[in-house]
This record gives sequence, C-alpha cells and structure tokens, in this order.
Amino acid sequence: MIVNFHGIGTPARDLEPGEGKYWISEGQYDAFLGLIAGSGAEVGITFDDGNLSDYALGAPGLARHGLTAVFFPLAGRLDTQGSLSSGQVRELLSEGHRIGTHGYSHRSWIAMAPSVLEEELVLARRKLSDTIDQPVDEAAIPFGRYDRATLAALKRLGYRRVYSSDGGAFAGDPHPVPRWSVQSGTTEADLEAFLNDDEGLYPRLRRIASRAKKTWL
Ligand SMILES: [Zn+2]
Repeated sequence: MIVNFHGIGTPARDLEPGEGKYWISEGQYDAFLGLIAGSGAEVGITFDDGNLSDYALGAPGLARHGLTAVFFPLAGRLDTQGSLSSGQVRELLSEGHRIGTHGYSHRSWIAMAPSVLEEELVLARRKLSDTIDQPVDEAAIPFGRYDRATLAALKRLGYRRVYSSDGGAFAGDPHPVPRWSVQSGTTEADLEAFLNDDEGLYPRLRRIASRAKKTWL
C-alpha cells in the first residue's frame, strides 16, 4: 500500500482552488510517519506537486524515521516560489529518494490535445530527467484522474510505473498503482485503518466502483 502526501505546514505559494484540504500540519505528518514506520507493513510513501515543504519538512521527517519516498514534482513549478528548486530535487535524490514526474502544469491528463500531451508527458519528463541527470520513468497522475487513453499514452511512452490516487491495498504490479492520499481531516485512526486494510465495506465498494469507472471511461 502507498500513502501519498502533498503539502505540510504553511504553504509558501497561492494554493489552487480546493487544494487546501491536502495540506496537513507538521504534527499530523510526524504522527503519520510514526504510524507508518511502526506498522510493520510494507508501505510506500509518495509526495505530489513538488512543494517546498517536501524538502523543508518532508525529507527531514523521513530521515528521522528511517524512511524513503518517491517525489513527484511539477516540472513547470521547479525553481518558483513555494516549490522545490532544481538543487533541492537533486538533494532529495542524493538522500536516497526517487524522483518521478507529475507533469508540467497540474492539468488533467484526460482528453489531452496533442500539444498538451507532449508538454505534460514528454517535455515535463525531459526537464526533470535533465535536472537529476537520470532517466525518469515513474509518473503520478494529477488529481488521480485518468482514462484508458491516459494509461495507453503513458505505456506507449515507456513509463515503467504509473500511480493513481484510487486508494486501497494492492498485490503485484497493478497499472496504475493505487495510492491513498492523506488530507487535513485525516486522523491517526483513519491511517491505522488503512494500514490494517480495514477501511470498512462501503468505502471499499465505492473505491472499487470508482476505479472500474475510471479504467473503462
Ligand atoms: Zn497534484
């Protein structure tokens, strides 16, 4: 299972509409990492959007708990206020974390015009790859919104692993790999239930239905 983070603490840039609920406090973050580190389960950790807090709070917290993560910056926000700088992305890599792509400018990857697809899936990846001087072959889908064409394009372009935000535990190497995003309202009990794969029948059915709908859209 994979737990996905966005922002920690106080944002240092203007947030997009609806984005605030994905920011958690430093106290929440530390408590969540403690639960993950102590769970004994195999838990992946990812960060979307490339916020400055990935570097200022995210990575130091991971180091305290002996954890590593995959970071998915937005190529178009590199070196802008409130987001990661190129040097910070390289530092994250050198600290043992992995770097993937979240696209260029945080747009939906559904029904992309060819020029948008080129910028989001090709140019963004190239910019990040040039930044770290290594191939980038993992992608996190913005807003967790995708359809069959999105998945087909990512496959055609040779992405090795693609992550959604569909939630839930998984086995094997699903395409896309589901992640569970913590929100400002997420409690330690919520996270414990997720880590115990015990989210309850109705949330589970809703999630399965939603994933099936997105896959076959
Ligand atoms: Zn995002």
